[in-house]
Amino acid sequence: MSLVPRCMYCEAHDGGLVAVAEVASGSGPGWSYYACRRCRIAQRLVPLVAQASNSWGGLHYWPESVPHELVERLADLGDAPQLRPITDRLFPATAVAASRAVDDRERDIAVASARAAVASLWATVTSQPDGLAPAPGGS
Ligand SMILES: [Zn+2]
Repeated sequence: MSLVPRCMYCEAHDGGLVAVAEVASGSGPGWSYYACRRCRIAQRLVPLVAQASNSWGGLHYWPESVPHELVERLADLGDAPQLRPITDRLFPATAVAASRAVDDRERDIAVASARAAVASLWATVTSQPDGLAPAPGGS
């Protein structure tokens, strides 16, 4: 078994590998699964450090409310622990919005908060200092 991390999808050794899942081991710290930037985009994977706090370490996928372009921008961030407060809102809201057990009013609220979380994701990717986004407030 190699200690060099490789992408769990395409087996690449580089290309922006980021841990996307973690398996607890009975004897020791367990191990992580990695995915490269390209596969994280193709699979819509959430980095392990950005998964909602209640994650058990399995694979998490960006929900449909996150457009492909945003998934790409998020993948550019690599490990992005700053996203966790947002996924903590996005994932529960998405689950409620998709649930058949809630009434329309609850669903509307959940859809709105999922939208707000997606807007926060956009704000995060466009505020990267080394990003291509134009400086805010420029005239
Ligand atoms: Zn890959």
